[in-house]
Amino acid sequence: MKIPIINSKRQYETIAAKAEAAVLEVMRSGSYILGANNKEFEQEMCNYLDCKHTVALNSGTDALHLALRALDIGEGDEVISTAFTFVATSESIGIVGAKPVFVDIDPDTFNIDPAKIEAAITPKTKAIIPVHLYGQPCDMDPIIDIAKRHNLFVIEDACQAIGAEYKGRKVGTIGDVGCFSFYPTKNLGTMGDGGLLSTNSQYIKDRVIALRNHGGAIRYHHDEIGVNSRLDEIQAAILRVKLPYIDKWNSARREHAKLYNELFKSCSLIETPKELDSTYCVYHQYTVKIPNRDGVHKMLADAGIGAMIYYPIPLHLQKVHEKYNFKEGMLPITEENTKLVLSLPMFAEITEEEQREVARVLIEAVEKSAVTA
Ligand SMILES: *Cc1c(COP(=O)(O)O)cnc(C)c1O
Repeated sequence: MKIPIINSKRQYETIAAKAEAAVLEVMRSGSYILGANNKEFEQEMCNYLDCKHTVALNSGTDALHLALRALDIGEGDEVISTAFTFVATSESIGIVGAKPVFVDIDPDTFNIDPAKIEAAITPKTKAIIPVHLYGQPCDMDPIIDIAKRHNLFVIEDACQAIGAEYKGRKVGTIGDVGCFSFYPTKNLGTMGDGGLLSTNSQYIKDRVIALRNHGGAIRYHHDEIGVNSRLDEIQAAILRVKLPYIDKWNSARREHAKLYNELFKSCSLIETPKELDSTYCVYHQYTVKIPNRDGVHKMLADAGIGAMIYYPIPLHLQKVHEKYNFKEGMLPITEENTKLVLSLPMFAEITEEEQREVARVLIEAVEKSAVTA
């Protein structure tokens, strides 16, 4: 049985009639950029997240880098984040000319370890970017506390975590800014690129509204160098069709995670994901830790199971940051976990039969490689 890590087509089929009607309506309307769907979608996202403002953008990467721009973070500044994430997190710090400062992770959650943040703060530090990786909320209370004491901004990278909650609040609304991605494979994915920034600050909202449209709030009046980062109306219309389903889809992912946890109980070599108390994790990925990860990964691929390594190289060791001369060994927990993690097929529409097959193949592969090791 071939089981991909995500099956976007299966989800599409559940909303096809509505999505096609919505797209057709946009095409027939003649209004393709910054139209009614953008406005409505931004309002619907404010309601969903329970925050004052949202700004729809072209990508999650733009949400991150425009958040930094809006906070006037750039050349000579430092931003604290994690190296155990997708490159867009530190790339956005680089786009504005600031330096990423990486802090090691908590091995139970894969997220930035709040206990290690303070040691990384210097007079140049301006912000912290916690990443809610795999849909798992960061421990936000200590992060907010540190930020307050050191006068730092908190920009939440919630690109993998729409709908996730920390102590009853949606992630992305706890810090100064939240950043979301609607890349097709995200929990709320559109059919192209898309992103959104959330904030309770009128100032940040106004800045980003201008920055996304060539640096001017009034047409043909340009106050600063901006970018073109608008969410097109077709994507906004598709997202408006899908948003009402996100809670149902996230809760299906949680049920699937529970079933995987159950199925892996018989195999002590497989470490299943943990959840912090008072969090609602939305399982963008279901990620296990296993011995002989690369060998097992290959066995799964040979059996048609689409498991993936997120991410094979931590960001401090990526060529893009070589000018900082970050060294191997600098983030031991990040580096160790990079070698252990494997993300399994996870999407709202996965069937129990498929999950049982994934579990059967994984357990067999892990046990086989334990014997030969
Ligand atoms: C997907 C992702 C991004 C970037 O989002 P895009 O919409 O692809 O630009 C940023 N951070 C994380 C953690 C992501 O997973």
